Amino acid sequence: MTLLILALDALDAALVDDFGIDALRLPAHGQMETVAEMRDEPYTPEAWASAATGLHPRDHGVSMKTSEWENPLVNFLSRFAGYLPMSARARLGNVAESATGSEYTIAEVESATMFDDEDRIVHNWPGVHNGAELKRAWDVMWREGQTDAEFRRDIAGLAAEQFGWAREMLRHGPSVAGVHIHYPDATGHAYCEDRESLRRAYERTGEFVAEIVAALGEDDELLVLSDHGMVVDWYADAEDRGMESGGHSWRAFAGSTCESVPESILDVREWVDEHATSARSDREEFDIDEERLRDLGYI
Ligand SMILES: [Zn+2]
Repeated sequence: MTLLILALDALDAALVDDFGIDALRLPAHGQMETVAEMRDEPYTPEAWASAATGLHPRDHGVSMKTSEWENPLVNFLSRFAGYLPMSARARLGNVAESATGSEYTIAEVESATMFDDEDRIVHNWPGVHNGAELKRAWDVMWREGQTDAEFRRDIAGLAAEQFGWAREMLRHGPSVAGVHIHYPDATGHAYCEDRESLRRAYERTGEFVAEIVAALGEDDELLVLSDHGMVVDWYADAEDRGMESGGHSWRAFAGSTCESVPESILDVREWVDEHATSARSDREEFDIDEERLRDLGYI
C-alpha cells in the first residue's frame, strides 16, 4: 500500500469550491489551518517544512534562511530581496548570479521528516528535499518577456513531470511517496485578477489529480495538501487577512481518500504516520555489470 502525497502549492480551499472542481473534492476534504513566521502571510518553504516535520517554523529553522547563497554578500542581498516584488527580485537574482557566479539554494531542515524511513520517498519538497524543482518553477514565473502561452506551456509542463513521477511511484509500492507541485501557486499569482484563466488552471489541476486517482491500487491512499491559498480579486473572506490580490490567503486545503484529513499543517506528519503502513520487505540487492559500464566510459 502506498500513501501518495501531492503537495499542491497555494491550492485555495475556497477556490476549489468556487470553481466546482469535483476531482479535488475527495471523500474527506476541506480547509486546513496553516502557519506563518517569516511574514504576515504563509510562506512556501517554511510552511512545507512544517508539514513534513510537524514543527512550527520557529523550531525547524527554515524561515530565517530560506534563500541561502554560497556567497555571503549575496546571502545578505537575498534576505533584503525577500521583501521586493517578484520581478525586482528576479532582476536582483540575475544580477547577483552573473556578478558572483553564485547560485542560490532553498534552505533545508536538519530535523527528522515524514520521509526519512527507507521505504518512503520524496521527489521534491520545499524546505526538505531538492529545492531545485521549486527554483525551476520560480524561474518560469519570473522569466522576463515571455508570452502568456509560453508561461502556460512551461508551467503545465513542469506540473506534468511531477504528476508523472507520482503516478509512476504507485507501481513501485513505497509506503509513502511525496511530491511538491508549484502549478496552482504560479497560475494563482499570474491570474489573481483573471478568474477565467485561473479557473482553467484549477480544472487542469483537477484533471491531473483525477488521473492519479484512477491509477490508485485497491490499497493505495491519496492525500492532497496545500500550504496556503491565494488572494484573488473576485472572492474575499476573513482568511485573506488584509492581503491584496496575489497575496497568500490562509485557506490551505487538505483532501484525502481516507475518512479524515489533517486539521492543521502541523498535524500532517502525525496523520501520515497513522495512515501509512510499512512496505519493508526482503531487500534484493541491485546488480549491474560494472565492467561493461567501465568499458562504455560511464564510470
Ligand atoms: Zn506556497
